Amino acid sequence: MRTYGRSDQGLVRSENQDDFLIRPVEAQGYLLAVADGIGGGPAGSRASHMALTAMDDAVGLKVSDVSRLASALSLANRRIFELGKDEPRFEGMGTTLTAAVLFPHRLLVSHVGDSRAYRIRHDQIIRLTMDHSVAGEMERAGTITPEEARNHPKKHVLTRALGPFDHVRIDMADMPWSSEDRLLLCTDGLTSVVFDDEILRYAERYRGQELVDKLVNAALDRGGPDNVTLVLAEVVQHSGEGHGR
Ligand code: MN
Repeated sequence: MRTYGRSDQGLVRSENQDDFLIRPVEAQGYLLAVADGIGGGPAGSRASHMALTAMDDAVGLKVSDVSRLASALSLANRRIFELGKDEPRFEGMGTTLTAAVLFPHRLLVSHVGDSRAYRIRHDQIIRLTMDHSVAGEMERAGTITPEEARNHPKKHVLTRALGPFDHVRIDMADMPWSSEDRLLLCTDGLTSVVFDDEILRYAERYRGQELVDKLVNAALDRGGPDNVTLVLAEVVQHSGEGHGR
């Protein structure tokens, strides 16, 4: 398995409040995560960085069940909440966090916020996470269509994040994985301007770092309105395979 990541400030924002993490764990696994910080001044970038560091420390080398990953997110939440409470300049700090532990035949996911995890296989792209945003909740409730959700004025307003409160509800998933599956984690800087079917079209043509770069460039071509961050994990195919599918 190979992993790839890139974070770009975009063309509008004055700093990059996104962050990502890629680290090997036992049993041929990888801990992978993206985080998108919220809060003015230094608060946002501090929150995303802190969340990844706290989670990384708490996960350790051996992860056998998803509750361990979720506990690590809870710990990160508490750390950010305490700092935001104690230091006025960090008031209101928070972050999304979409974290995965990927083994050759199993995937664990823990998630809060509107960053996303996707499973890509052949001509299929499946969202593995729900957006914890006002527009995302309305879309799931059937109040608005996916198209309306993309353009909703409150699409960036989060209904859940790490940091703002002392407790947070964390989504968890534990699922089988195949060597044909590719895992993509990304922040909303990608998905607010590049839609699922377009991501799939790029994924059908490109792999590895080239796919990551093409997707970041696609977001920049659409004006790069936000920080954009991607993490990709896939099994390397030998030359000759992967074509003509
Ligand atoms: Mn963002």
